[in-house]
Amino acid sequence: MSEQIYDIAIIGGGIVGAATFYKIQKAYPSLKILLIEKENQFANHQTGNNSGVIHSGLYYTPGSLKAKNCVQGRHELVAFAKEHNIAHDVCGKVVVATKESELPFMEKIYNNGIANKTEGIEKITGEQVKDFEPFVEGNCRYLGAYARELSIIVEQPKK
Ligand SMILES: Cc1cc2nc3c(=O)[nH]c(=O)nc-3n(C[C@H](O)[C@H](O)[C@H](O)COP(=O)(O)OP(=O)(O)OC[C@H]3O[C@@H](n4cnc5c(N)ncnc54)[C@H](O)[C@@H]3O)c2cc1C
Repeated sequence: MSEQIYDIAIIGGGIVGAATFYKIQKAYPSLKILLIEKENQFANHQTGNNSGVIHSGLYYTPGSLKAKNCVQGRHELVAFAKEHNIAHDVCGKVVVATKESELPFMEKIYNNGIANKTEGIEKITGEQVKDFEPFVEGNCRYLGAYARELSIIVEQPKK
């Protein structure tokens, strides 16, 4: 009979596999866990090629698992980045409506942000947008939303 070496095997060394490994290892330190990756290095696909933005949950239905994951995950990811000296920038995010027809959507995501308890979200006018982001172009006269702590950029692995 073959010997069982590992208690758990996780397939895929992207952020989901790595985070699953990390959380299980922290919760059950005595378990032997195997992370299997088909490439020669981890994070070679989506995880190593994305925009590095930690999203805020503005777009997700309040109370949904996606919204909870975004809000709680953002806190955990920033704490992780600090603990492990991973460069990151809590730069905020400006969402801009450039047409009057987009205003109901702005109201919707603002309300989502409030319901999801995302910090630092506020409504701003088209004029105020320029104070935060002078490179917003065009006829931006409409309401925007500024989220002071919402989006964060993390450093990607060096290639
Ligand atoms: C262009 C782009 C920009 C993005 N920007 C952002 C962003 O700014 N912020 C954000 O939060 N999200 C962003 N995303 C989404 C985010 O990158 C993905 O949701 C996330 O990386 C998915 O992680 P994953 O571990 O599920 O997948 P992946 O990173 O694709 O990892 C899957 C791993 O499984 C391995 N694998 C597959 N099959 C097998 C097998 N049979 N055996 C062993 N290994 C296997 C693959 O080689 C790969 O390493 C972006 C996505 C893209 C494409």
